[in-house]
Amino acid sequence: MVELNLTGLGKSASRDKPLDVLILGSGPAGLTAALYAARAQLNSLVLVGMELGGRVALTHAIENYPGFPEGIGGPQLGELFQKQAEHFGAKVEFDTAHEVNLSKRPFQVKADNGEYLARSLIVSTGARPNHLNIPGERELSGRGVSYCATCDGWFFIDKKVVVVGGGDSAMEESVFLTRYASDITIIHRREALRAGALLQERARGNPKIKFIWSTVVTEIVGVEKVEAVRLKNVNTGEEALYLTDGVFIFIGHTPNTGMFKGQLKMDGKGYIKVDSLMQTNIPGVFAAGEVADPHFRQVVTSAGMGAAAAIQATRFLERERS
Ligand code: NAP
Repeated sequence: MVELNLTGLGKSASRDKPLDVLILGSGPAGLTAALYAARAQLNSLVLVGMELGGRVALTHAIENYPGFPEGIGGPQLGELFQKQAEHFGAKVEFDTAHEVNLSKRPFQVKADNGEYLARSLIVSTGARPNHLNIPGERELSGRGVSYCATCDGWFFIDKKVVVVGGGDSAMEESVFLTRYASDITIIHRREALRAGALLQERARGNPKIKFIWSTVVTEIVGVEKVEAVRLKNVNTGEEALYLTDGVFIFIGHTPNTGMFKGQLKMDGKGYIKVDSLMQTNIPGVFAAGEVADPHFRQVVTSAGMGAAAAIQATRFLERERS
């Protein structure tokens, strides 16, 4: 987990006078927006949200963020984002927004610790991992069911685990799990992986990893902890019980946009719609990162969107002042 050195405004300070920019979320998009807003000398504040540093802080290594030829640990990169933003005066506060009123300005944001008023808003609330929604998943979550190899891999030293999914996350996290687990089985619902060539190659070439194709997990079985998964072949309908100590699920993400429903325009999957200037349908409200990006979802693209959103928020506020 990223260690943030919080230098945030006191709650009363943020409430007395509307902020120029309130940034919701502290992932690569939010912290890059904070850097740009701070350098533009805006009175801005980042609300950390549920995950300090966003999902990047839960990723063991980032190998495709430019400037780090050997790669860099996700938590370290998150910490550098935060340090750089704070170096220029960005303020970061541990608080989570849960309700917004975007019908009038200043915009109102209700959070756990109180209410914030802001002349402009940058939404960078990210996305959360999808669940399979099968029997046993919720009951055994934290008892063998996990959505984060970096967080929970350690618990599976010399154990047998299954990974569900066929995308980049499933491949990358499976390779990471080979540090701990003795045996990893990737269960994918099709016969072709969605993951890119490089990550596929790494997973396929690892002797600890094997694949079960055209198969779905229909139940996670266990009393106190995971003991097995029930598998179903999608072609033959054949079912089998497969013994395992853990189940890691990497089947995509859902954007964290619940509190904006009915106010910000979204696509069918709940991603906030933005134009090329990161503007939403409400003037003064911008969105950046995974919450508004169903296409790329990379650290570098999220950071870029965060920079663009803050630049555009600065222009928006300048136009109002002139
Ligand atoms: P993803 O690309 O959406 O892949 C999700 C996988 O889960 C797919 O293989 C999908 O199967 C499978 N799936 C979805 N719902 C399922 C269900 N109900 N039951 C069983 N399987 C299910 O998600 P991701 O892997 O998290 O990647 C998300 C984005 O982040 C991508 O853009 C990816 O490139 C990026 N990413 C990049 C890196 C990297 O560059 N190092 C690392 C991680 C993620 P189908 O294939 O049949 O649809």
